[in-house]
Amino acid sequence: MSETEKLYEGKAKILYATADPAILLTVYKDDATAFNAQKRGQIRGKGEINCQITAALFKWLSSKDIATHYIDSPEPNQMRVKALTIVPIEVVIRNIAAGSLCRQTGLPTGQILPSPLVEYYYKSDELGDPLLTRDRIFLLNLVTPQRLAEIEDLARKINQNLQSFFAECKITLVDFKLEFGIDAQGNLLLADEISPDTCRLWDQEKSDPRSRVMDKDRFRQDLGQVESAYQEVQRRVLEQLEQ
Ligand code: ADP
Ligand code: MG
Repeated sequence: MSETEKLYEGKAKILYATADPAILLTVYKDDATAFNAQKRGQIRGKGEINCQITAALFKWLSSKDIATHYIDSPEPNQMRVKALTIVPIEVVIRNIAAGSLCRQTGLPTGQILPSPLVEYYYKSDELGDPLLTRDRIFLLNLVTPQRLAEIEDLARKINQNLQSFFAECKITLVDFKLEFGIDAQGNLLLADEISPDTCRLWDQEKSDPRSRVMDKDRFRQDLGQVESAYQEVQRRVLEQLEQ
C-alpha cells in the first residue's frame, strides 16, 4: 500500500494521503451503521463488495461522459481517487417513494414518482444530515446557484444512466445518495461511492416487499441475508458489464 497518513476515518471508509497530494487512497470497511450511527454492525465482505461495485459503476459512468474521482483499485477493498474538496451536500435522487420520504410526506412505500425527485441534505453528522432547502443552501454558502444547477443536472443524468443500467440487471433503482467534489481546476466530479450502502435496490425477480430488498435496508430492518444480497448485486453488476 502506498498510503502515508490517515486523513479521516468515516463510517464506511478510511481516507489516506499518498505520495501524490492530488491522489487519495480510500479503504472500504466492513463496518455498517444506520440511523445516524445509532445502529452499528459489520457486514462480512462488504468493504470489497462496495469497492468493486463502485469501481465498476464509476468506470461505466465515465464511459457515459460523467467525470468521477475514480482512478483505480490496487486491492479489492481499496480505491485510489482524485483528491477533491467535497461539497457538504448529500444529493438524494428518488424514483420510487421509500424511507424518509414516506415518513415525512405520508406517500406509500413503492409509489412510483411522476418524475425523479432531487433532494439535498446537509452533510453534517452532528446535525443528523438534515434536509436542506435551496434558500438554506445559499444562506449557509454551501454552493453558488450556478454550481447547484450543475449538480442537479449531473445528478439527473447519473440517475437516467443508472436506472437503465440497473434495469438491465433486473434491479429497480428506488433511490440513492451522491456526493460531489471540486478539483483544483474547479471541475465538478462525482465522488464517494455508489453501492448497496448508498442505494435502495429492489430485485425485479421477487415480488415480496421483504425479500426483494438488496441494499442496506436489510441491515437497517434486520431482514437477514445481508451479505448474500450485497454479493448478488455485485454479481449482476459485473455480469452486466461483461456483456
Ligand atoms: P462518512 O462517515 O463521513 O460518510 P465515509 O466513510 O463514507 O465517511 O467516507 C469517507 C469520507 O470521504 C466521506 O466524508 C466523503 O465525503 C469523503 N470523500 C469521498 N471521496 C472523496 C474525494 N475524492 N476527496 C476527498 N474526500 C472524499
Ligand atoms: Mg459515507
